[in-house]
Amino acid sequence: MPYNPTMLKKNFGAVLHKPRDLRIMEIPITEVDYGEVLLEVRSVGICASDVHYFQHGSIGKYVIKEPMVLGHEASGVVIAYGDGVTNVNVGDRIAVEPGVPCRFCSLCKSGRYNLCKDVRFLATPPVNGALCKYLVHAAEFCHKLPDDLSFDEGALMEPLSVGIHACRRGKVSRGTKVLIMGAGPIGLATLLAAKHSGAGMVAITDVRQERLEVSKTIGADITFNVDSGMRGATELLSYSPLFDVAIDCTGAESAIRTSIKKVRAGGAVVFVGMGGDDMNLPILDASTREIDLLGVFRYANTYPEACELLANSELDPKTLITHYFTLQETNEAFSLAENKGSGAIKIIINP
Ligand code: NAD
Ligand code: ZN
Repeated sequence: MPYNPTMLKKNFGAVLHKPRDLRIMEIPITEVDYGEVLLEVRSVGICASDVHYFQHGSIGKYVIKEPMVLGHEASGVVIAYGDGVTNVNVGDRIAVEPGVPCRFCSLCKSGRYNLCKDVRFLATPPVNGALCKYLVHAAEFCHKLPDDLSFDEGALMEPLSVGIHACRRGKVSRGTKVLIMGAGPIGLATLLAAKHSGAGMVAITDVRQERLEVSKTIGADITFNVDSGMRGATELLSYSPLFDVAIDCTGAESAIRTSIKKVRAGGAVVFVGMGGDDMNLPILDASTREIDLLGVFRYANTYPEACELLANSELDPKTLITHYFTLQETNEAFSLAENKGSGAIKIIINP
């Protein structure tokens, strides 16, 4: 359908101007170019990175210099598309894959497009995000939702993709014994992905008991509360047998050290959590026991599996989605997301 901006109502977005200055304001609707679609956004999950931008205005080398719309875990409905679009139609419900790579470099061509140096990723400066009413996105990175999946599940496919990619990096397959550090949204997504890949046993740690309780309801076989004062850390250190793969979803040095120690010779440790730049790790132990240390940066080619996982699982999305807000209430949503005692896991905004 040709793009006709007059058919649209006004666009509004949650725009971060500087740390803690998040304004719900009118924003322009971007022109729909060749290969792009115009979406009416329905569900957007708040991610730890959105909260980090909200608090600090930057993540590492990514600094917000111009006001930026937040949000990258999104789903919506196609309302128009530009020339050259063949994979989606008006009215299609879709999950948005937020990173659009160049598609021409050697990394893109080899399938590792998440590592493309020219990737444009929603809500990563200078690219605006999806916390808005109308979003223009590359059609190729719009994935159709099956009828039985909700918009909220569409938004969950983004964190789930991180978990799927982490499990692929760690070669999790039938029977693999997996240790996951951290039961936040990413740790829980990794747990779902590990189970989906046929992991034989999955143990998970956290310092927040309520998150470990959630992990039990979605398939964790063993949980360790490693908070000081709890016995979990000691129990984990003495637990045997060792694991085939440990996947760190905390970024905490102590958790990564434990990951290396709890993996068998020839096993692997996957680094999903993003913590300090430099860490003190037992590298000699890793090298003499040939433990593979594997990085993770987002994901590539995971949406079909995320879709299949959700469509075939008994997962009630409300187990992970604990709170809902409207776009106007985005500041309240971020206050809740910041509050570690709130019990919130995934917060969804419905623009
Ligand atoms: P989160 O902060 O909600 O969850 C982290 C969890 O780890 C929390 O529940 C916390 O209580 C727990 N934790 C903290 N220290 C711990 C320790 N020493 N041992 C056990 N548990 C501990 O964050 P999230 O959204 O789940 O993301 C997890 C991590 O993954 C973050 O560091 C985030 O930046 C990173 N991340 C990386 C990628 C990637 O592409 N590599 C993508 C998304 C998120
Ligand atoms: Zn590229």
